[in-house]
Amino acid sequence: MDSMFFVPIGEEVPEDEEKGSKKDITQTLLKPESRFKFYCHKGLSCFNKCCMDTTMLLTPYDIIRMKNALKIPSEEFLAKYTTTLIKEDGGFPAIVLKMRDDENKSCPFVTQEGCSIYQDRPWSCRSYPLQPQSSKDTDRLGKEFYSIMKWPFCLGFDEDKEWTVEEWKEDQGLNNYNEVDALFKEITLDENLTKEEILNEDIQKMFHMVCYDIDRFKEFVFESKFLKIFDVEQEIIEKIKKDDVELLKLGFKWLKFGLIDRNALKIRAEILEAKKK
Ligand code: SF4
Ligand code: SF4
Repeated sequence: MDSMFFVPIGEEVPEDEEKGSKKDITQTLLKPESRFKFYCHKGLSCFNKCCMDTTMLLTPYDIIRMKNALKIPSEEFLAKYTTTLIKEDGGFPAIVLKMRDDENKSCPFVTQEGCSIYQDRPWSCRSYPLQPQSSKDTDRLGKEFYSIMKWPFCLGFDEDKEWTVEEWKEDQGLNNYNEVDALFKEITLDENLTKEEILNEDIQKMFHMVCYDIDRFKEFVFESKFLKIFDVEQEIIEKIKKDDVELLKLGFKWLKFGLIDRNALKIRAEILEAKKK
């Protein structure tokens, strides 16, 4: 996004002088009450053009939905469709979708008919053309801010359908992502975590397993001493046997317990007693 630029809040998305590549993205900040014109459909000549040559970060919730849609375990999904990014200078591991090795670097899920996993497509594919502003700003101001991101080749902006931010989020099923993403950000955006903690190899592995390799985390919970150490309610244990999102929420609590807050999970009384002795 090197030549991306911003225009002031509420101003019109500028017309492109020529239809360029994804590098010529423009971005316009939106007021909460702003409306924007956009409609994406098969009849447009740009159909599927956006599903190629893109760096797409996947959230933990994206991975759960996508691997379940494909009916494969998380480990296989990660190996086949993703690359793990680890920044040497800090930060938790991040997962990006691996594009096909073809001329267009197309998404592994794009077909002539469109997205083959449309119902479970990732957050970024749902959100476009809305782009949330930096999470830190959002958190600091206690408000959500969005901008409109426009790829120069995208013809959806020339269509007549109009939206508010809320209408778009509802239509694209974006609100389903909020709860899990908020829990994820509690960990990744915690300002008290030190670089040493984040870069610790064991912590990186623990983070990767919980956030991205949920089926391995499930094995870990049920096959290690996890449930003997932590006092997890029976109702939750029953839920996490079948529900990956509930399991992920437990995983976030475990990460929070280990990294940020010792009250995030309860240790069993007998373990504490044994420790005292
Ligand atoms: S309108 Fe935009 S988002 Fe829709 S297919 Fe065309 S380029 Fe992609
Ligand atoms: S996941 Fe679907 S919508 Fe997203 S880039 Fe791939 S084909 Fe397009």
